[in-house]
Amino acid sequence: MEKLKQSIFNIIFYIILIAIILGLVFLLIFVIMKINVYAVEEVPTEQICVLIDPGHGAEDGGAVSDDGVVEKGINLAISNYLKEYLELSGFEVLMTRDDDNIMGDQTLPTLTERRRSDMNARLDLYNSKDVDYVVSIHQNKFTESKYSGAQVFYSPNDERSEKLADCMRRSIVGFLQPENERDIVKAGSNIYLLNNCNNPCILVECGFLSNPEETAKLNSDEYQRQMAFSIYCGLLDCCRSASADNIR
Ligand SMILES: [Zn+2]
Repeated sequence: MEKLKQSIFNIIFYIILIAIILGLVFLLIFVIMKINVYAVEEVPTEQICVLIDPGHGAEDGGAVSDDGVVEKGINLAISNYLKEYLELSGFEVLMTRDDDNIMGDQTLPTLTERRRSDMNARLDLYNSKDVDYVVSIHQNKFTESKYSGAQVFYSPNDERSEKLADCMRRSIVGFLQPENERDIVKAGSNIYLLNNCNNPCILVECGFLSNPEETAKLNSDEYQRQMAFSIYCGLLDCCRSASADNIR
């Protein structure tokens, strides 16, 4: 009986201990977020509108890993966290989708027509005069599994796109991928939306679904938050240097 009491006491003790540790961790996260919000003060966030485009959606799943992880869900999860962080700092945020539906006329008879309609509707938003920056979120896939790490593509039509891509690359490498030496890439005609966007615009391929270890990370809530936070910081750095240059 004494032994039973002792082990119940031990269980309660460890539950309380874990609760205290979790409480401290959340407090630390809160303090870090607050510090960041103060750091935002030099950026006129309330005047900046960011369009987030979580790639694919609905019947267009995008890339799929060997173990069945679908790109569209990861894109949306990272985008939703990014939206949350940006809004906490006062940015105005628009999204091309915030669930598993896509844009355009989805009653059209063929998949090609529905996709074209979706792309055109997304492009209209990309080129909206109310939008200051466009960030498109995707995941990569390759025939070989050894490749990993993010890569950032930028639109060729506004010089601020390249600056944004550079800030983004630095932020992701600095926070999450110190080994990543992949350079930013100017988008060609094969990336339709970037190639036809006139606002500052980038596409972030966050990682490779052809790499099992990276897929497991990308599919975890913790890494999705970290990736979103890195993208958020990259955007903030870009806005900070733009407002310092007064060229926004
Ligand atoms: Zn994609």
